Amino acid sequence: MSAKIIDGKALSARTREELKEKTTAFEQKYGRKVCLAVVLVGNDPASEVYVRNKIRGCEATNIKPLAYRLPEETTQKEAEELVRALAEDDGVDGILVQLPLPAGLDEIRLLELIPPEKDVDGFHPVNVGNLLLGRETVASCTPMGVMTMLHDENIEICGKHAVIVGRSNIVGKPMAALLLRESATVTICHSKTKNLKDICKQADILVAAIGKAEFITADMVKEGAVVIDVGINRVDGKLKGDVDFENVKEKASYITPVPGGVGPMTITTLLENTCLCAERRENAKNR
Ligand code: NAP
Repeated sequence: MSAKIIDGKALSARTREELKEKTTAFEQKYGRKVCLAVVLVGNDPASEVYVRNKIRGCEATNIKPLAYRLPEETTQKEAEELVRALAEDDGVDGILVQLPLPAGLDEIRLLELIPPEKDVDGFHPVNVGNLLLGRETVASCTPMGVMTMLHDENIEICGKHAVIVGRSNIVGKPMAALLLRESATVTICHSKTKNLKDICKQADILVAAIGKAEFITADMVKEGAVVIDVGINRVDGKLKGDVDFENVKEKASYITPVPGGVGPMTITTLLENTCLCAERRENAKNR
């Protein structure tokens, strides 16, 4: 059996078309564009690329981007002043602070200044708590993008055993909460997990978010499993996932490639979250 390869690029393009219709309808209704503020501090080259792609994504989906590029030597006070001003600006629907921040800046304090209703990354403790409580929220973009992929392929989640390898706040934990919300039986694994291979082999849906190239090998995968590869690893100048794609695809029923799988859906989900925040903010005004 050779797996169906889930094309994240194509899904991302379709999702963006649908999103553009929503943001255009928003503009017609409220007389302004959905607006995302992106804050980049310092000169980290990878962050520069991410920010550029996010701004391009905004432009492609009729979202107004506001880019703030602060120098490496920005103080905590200066960064906080900017985030506070954006928090108070009624024309700004979403605020994104690109991570990692330069050493010396307090990431947690800065992120907590983003009001939950403008927290397009879904990192604020209130949004994380609401996710666990099953309430309306904004959830972290990468796992939300994975859910969109599963839904788009009509992959059954309810009652399935989902195994997630990785427990980060950005991927593993919110992924678990989202799958649990849809009634999967969820197991979270990490570096201290014993018998990892046996647990992975039980998975109907296996999500790899580890950060180690080709860590998940075919002998860890059940015949017919859905395999989602979140990993992005650079090996000899090439991008590799956390899954040994060539061998695992012969056993899985569905698999995401790297590149071209989960990655493209992450920024698209950020844009969707921005539109969601804008709609909720406008609805809250009219309540
Ligand atoms: P992270 O914060 O470094 O977390 C990695 C997780 O993997 C940790 O929970 C760690 O366990 C676990 N782990 C490490 N070695 C392990 C082992 N030998 N066995 C079992 N578990 C192990 O990474 P992250 O931010 O979640 O990112 C994970 C990967 O996804 C990275 O490659 C990252 O680049 C990629 N990523 C991609 C996107 C995208 O858009 N596609 C977005 C975000 C991240 P402990 O907690 O015990 O240390």
